[in-house]
Amino acid sequence: MSLPEVKYTQLFINNEFVNSVSGNSFTTINPTTAEKICNVQEADKADVDLAVKAAREAFKLGSPWRRMDASQRGRLINKLAGLIERDAKYLAALETLDNGMIIGTSFGVMIGSARQLRYFAGWADKIQGKTIPIDGDFFCYTRYEPVGVVGAIVPWNFPVFLLTGKLVNALTCGNTIVIKPAEQTPLTALYIASLVKEAGFPPGVVNVLPGYGPTAGAAIAEHMDVDFVTFTGSTEVGHLIQQASGKSNLKRVALEMGGKSPNIVFADADLDYAVEVSHRGLFNHSGQVCLAASRTFVQEEIYDEFVRKSVARAKRRVIGNPYLKTTEGGPQINQEQVDKIMDLIESGKHQGAKLECGGKRHGDKGYFIESTVFSNVKDDMRIATEEIFGPVQQLIKFKTLEEVSERANKTKYGLAAAVFTKDIDKAISIANTVSAGIVWVNVYGVMGGPVPFGGFKMSGIGREGGEDGLMEYLEVKTVIIKQPGQVNKL
Ligand code: ADP
Repeated sequence: MSLPEVKYTQLFINNEFVNSVSGNSFTTINPTTAEKICNVQEADKADVDLAVKAAREAFKLGSPWRRMDASQRGRLINKLAGLIERDAKYLAALETLDNGMIIGTSFGVMIGSARQLRYFAGWADKIQGKTIPIDGDFFCYTRYEPVGVVGAIVPWNFPVFLLTGKLVNALTCGNTIVIKPAEQTPLTALYIASLVKEAGFPPGVVNVLPGYGPTAGAAIAEHMDVDFVTFTGSTEVGHLIQQASGKSNLKRVALEMGGKSPNIVFADADLDYAVEVSHRGLFNHSGQVCLAASRTFVQEEIYDEFVRKSVARAKRRVIGNPYLKTTEGGPQINQEQVDKIMDLIESGKHQGAKLECGGKRHGDKGYFIESTVFSNVKDDMRIATEEIFGPVQQLIKFKTLEEVSERANKTKYGLAAAVFTKDIDKAISIANTVSAGIVWVNVYGVMGGPVPFGGFKMSGIGREGGEDGLMEYLEVKTVIIKQPGQVNKL
């Protein structure tokens, strides 16, 4: 397959593609080959100021966006969904070029993103307040109003899906937005920007600024005229975002961060099925998924067989060219991630886990790592406590429900969890006791627009998805009107 042409490499402000104020640009790399794709204009603080100004102007009372009927906002969002569907093949090819995601996944992500847009489009004219019967001669009601200018900071692992999730929530509620894609993967975000313009959103409503975290990202987080910052990325940077809010205008913050999700397999589970789903729950997208099943607890009666089958499955996993339909796993995103993952693999060996397969670099170019499985993993090892974000599976033995319920929660994270069992009581017990924003029973990773998703503990603040997710992008205003006594008596 020939590589897709890159059409947009400039910043998108006020519905125009423009160069950065500094004129600086940065290089984006194809992780499959480690070769340069192209240069992209690099936003920093001066560009953030311009984009926030445009977003504020578009949000002004009386502006076309503020005057637009909610139903029309929904129609525009549906139009954008249609354009993403129209160009899904191109977008998928571009995502695979910049991110290394296998082509089947990138295509699925584009269709999933469009579906997510359509789900929220239906909400646009259904966001409504309440009338509240308070004591006295008063009429009390609430209005749900947009927060204002949203800053969105997006990571590299699912560039389009995570961008459109934040974008559509902002638009559905009538906000304007300044988006910073990750520096590793700016290309699809810029193409989506061109579709925003084609769909007919007024200038300034959506702005996209490729750039680095400590410069452009920090400028958004610290900005005095950004009302809300929604961030997906590492817990380390989440701390910085929260601090920047505290040091600036106390803007609202939503954080979706790391995980070390427990995946609990009881002896009564369908073994082959649990092995396969646990494999995919970890190795999908080369492990670069915040909700990866990175601690698989297996009950002792089936532990040895589970290890044997998991190792056989990992050895069968096809990694390589992400454009080939037969490939199951692509590269890691960059050298930095490869170094981090290899360091954790070494730590696993040194701390006494058994390396069952993998553990080395794969191929002679690009950022590939072999599918790696560790058994005999103990709770306090680095590979059982730190987020690896790579193709490294941890298989941990447990005896009883009580024991695993406690051990599953021994982590600073609380993003996701899963349980495999045919016993409904065990399933409900785990679902009730595990500290996680989402729990799957006999399945892993099912998500979608209507599903609230986010973290307990240091995995997050706030939710994305569904009605709970929308609430993050809204202010509640209460209005109380004094009425003459006889009006209420009638
Ligand atoms: P990852 O480890 O997945 O790359 P990061 O948290 O480093 O996650 O990055 C996620 C997003 O946060 C990226 O868009 C990145 O540029 C941005 N980012 C990184 N550092 C900062 C920072 N100091 N302030 C704001 N955004 C940042």
